[in-house]
Amino acid sequence: MPELPEVETIRQGLEKYLVGKKIIGVKLKGFILPPSQLSHLEGGRTVAVKRFGKGLVIDLNNKYSLAIHIKLTGQFIYKGPETENITPSKKLVGLVPSKFTRIIFKLDKNAFLYFNDVRKFAWVKVVKTDEVKNLPFFKGLGPEPFRDLRFEHFKRVVQKSKGAVKAVLMDQKKIGGVGNIYANDALNLARVDPRRKGSGLDNKEIEKLYETIHEVLKRGLKYGGATELNYVNALGQSGKYQEHFLTYGRQGQKCYNCGGTIKKIFLAGRGTYFCEDCQK
Ligand SMILES: [Zn+2]
Repeated sequence: MPELPEVETIRQGLEKYLVGKKIIGVKLKGFILPPSQLSHLEGGRTVAVKRFGKGLVIDLNNKYSLAIHIKLTGQFIYKGPETENITPSKKLVGLVPSKFTRIIFKLDKNAFLYFNDVRKFAWVKVVKTDEVKNLPFFKGLGPEPFRDLRFEHFKRVVQKSKGAVKAVLMDQKKIGGVGNIYANDALNLARVDPRRKGSGLDNKEIEKLYETIHEVLKRGLKYGGATELNYVNALGQSGKYQEHFLTYGRQGQKCYNCGGTIKKIFLAGRGTYFCEDCQK
């Protein structure tokens, strides 16, 4: 599932192209929003695009917002005169609209925004801007890296946890934005075994892990996110972090820390990649 770097990359693209544009009309394909709510979107002009954990919020100037969680396969694809020369990935997007397009936003200045979702797990809600923070998903979100995740909080949630440390990193209620890819890579960089109980980590290890979480997320952002299933940025292009994974999907290959072999196991039902030689 797209994580902080992927959703942030989408956010940056949407911010660049949507802010200042007005929604002229909205067409739904299938039931993703009650059609009665479209009147809150039409005529609204985008004033901001925000991200909370893995969720996105598009604020309009009419006191309404569109809140979205793209889940596994949601895609936003912007097309306008200023992006005429940019073609969305043939493999990941193809032509838009497609049979996977769920919403078409017609914008002013000859622009369109498409929302695609192959697996239909994404959710989209129209809410009053004031009430976005009350949506259960946003309300339950833990503090996040680069924003309000302080070391003291991080240390407390890790040390309190009797479960595997990797599960703590991925628990959105404890830490917002980190999922499977970046949790695996952060643990490798910190040389911590993902199966260890959080409560068994010492101060130094927790400090290191706090640092490596930020480091791998920073790399993810730098490469425009990781394309695993069909993640694309707001122009329909794939990310590049998958070419720089430290452990994720690299079972049988060499560990960059020590030359050992990356192993794959399942931990709490999720594919877990680590090096037994250097992750203790
Ligand atoms: Zn290693």
